[in-house]
Amino acid sequence: MTTRTDDLNKTELALPLKKEKADWLSSKIRDIPDFPKPGILFKDITTLMKDAEAFHFTLHSMAQETAKLKPDVIIGIEARGFMLAPPIADILGLGFVPIRKPGKLPYKVEKVTYDLEYGSDSIEMHIDAIEKGQRVVLIDDLLATGGTAAAASQLIKKVGGDLVGIGFVVELGFLNGRSKLDSKADIFTLLTFE
Ligand code: AMP
Repeated sequence: MTTRTDDLNKTELALPLKKEKADWLSSKIRDIPDFPKPGILFKDITTLMKDAEAFHFTLHSMAQETAKLKPDVIIGIEARGFMLAPPIADILGLGFVPIRKPGKLPYKVEKVTYDLEYGSDSIEMHIDAIEKGQRVVLIDDLLATGGTAAAASQLIKKVGGDLVGIGFVVELGFLNGRSKLDSKADIFTLLTFE
């Protein structure tokens, strides 16, 4: 087995991605119509992640953009954020902090409840997960309505973190999720679908 090192061209990794690179990466994402319910076109990133080259490129491109924000810690949201944030944290030599669904974290938590299309949901974080004023970058798979990332941003503030950036692999631009997000944070995405 070969070990992968920093074998990528930094210019190619830079955002915004060149059209050719963006088209290549988009081709690795599988569209599933009407999942999980009619009318939703689900962007399935499992096909991107199982492709070693595409996954490696995604992680390193996001890591390069994240590094510019000089974070102290990387945060990921359960569940898909857990597939991306920890390897990015490791590439940057940083630690990882999880935001989880209710009842999963064993120590004292802060909680934020947010509205969904039908009903509401909550997310939690350990109260001591971040030191006051630490610079934090949040990583998630996809920006849709922005409800989840906005709630995560509130939670990070509650525990005393300074949210300097939020990174996604995919943004569904037509849902205008960016308008819900903290205007102070730098928001970046590898691929935008309009
Ligand atoms: P939101 O709070 O609306 O921004 O979406 C939260 C999460 O739902 C994202 O992080 C995705 O994991 C998932 N999601 C929402 N819409 C889609 C979609 N069309 N395709 C894939 N995942 C989606």
